[in-house]
Amino acid sequence: MKLCYKIKIIFLSLIFFTECFSQDLSRKEISVSVDDLPYVSKYYNDVKYGKMIIDSLLSAFREFNIKALGAVNTSKLYELGRLNYSKLILLERWLDSGMLMANHTHSHKNIFTITVQEYCKDVIEGESILKDLLKDRNQKLKYFRHPYLFRGENKEKADSLSNFLKERGYIEAPVTIDNYDYLFSLALEKALIMDNDTLISRIGCDYIKYMEDVLKYYESQSIALFGYNIKHILILHANLINAYFIRNLLNMYVKNNYTFISIDEALTDICYQSKDDFYKNLGVSWLHRWAWSKGFGDDFFDGEPDIPEYIKALIKN
Ligand SMILES: [Zn+2]
Repeated sequence: MKLCYKIKIIFLSLIFFTECFSQDLSRKEISVSVDDLPYVSKYYNDVKYGKMIIDSLLSAFREFNIKALGAVNTSKLYELGRLNYSKLILLERWLDSGMLMANHTHSHKNIFTITVQEYCKDVIEGESILKDLLKDRNQKLKYFRHPYLFRGENKEKADSLSNFLKERGYIEAPVTIDNYDYLFSLALEKALIMDNDTLISRIGCDYIKYMEDVLKYYESQSIALFGYNIKHILILHANLINAYFIRNLLNMYVKNNYTFISIDEALTDICYQSKDDFYKNLGVSWLHRWAWSKGFGDDFFDGEPDIPEYIKALIKN
């Protein structure tokens, strides 16, 4: 009788454990980050487009209860050497809507083409405006997002940048879901210039389809590498494609059972403590950095979704 009771307890415990475990595994979480704030565009540089982009993103983020991280290039705030206050207001709006902010360097330089010292100077140059904006809101500048997702092409360079960032109190903001949203955006800008509504809709539909394929790809990469679907960090850009289709995009993640979390929550996932020995002249997802560091071969990276051919053609012309 006593034994039966014990067996029952063990059995129930096992059910409980299995349920908790399976619930944990089925939980899908994603943190949203937006790079190149205040906004980025090749053909629509007027600040009215910037306002439209930021307003559209913020309104969707509020609706979906998202605390997004915005990575700023402060050089974009200047025109002919003078600070453009209309652009600065966009950053104020971003913070006043409860979003987070990261230093993305002053002028988005490529670390492969300059010394670490020059790069670090650009990091410091990006600080003063952001620190003031955050201080006015009782916050501190603590996140850093690497331009092009480059961390340095050799160990010495990557380590000295990493140490510099640590000394200045930064948390490096990784990306696990990398994508080509900026190429779709460029194609959309072309379609807008052509005033072609059919093409605009087609680009929008294909963008969401592409981003869903990208999501599935990184989910499988995560499972192949860690055995579970990690708390992801998505990179987007403050551009026209996201301004136009952000609600469709966010709905796609909801449809795929994702809940939105802040970057701090995402970084609690133990995967972010993985070793990164990826020293190449490439900007890739941290999932690929970790896979490379664990010794996975090139075939691990196969199957990354490509952008449609007509998008490539549109960008070329
Ligand atoms: Zn960038």
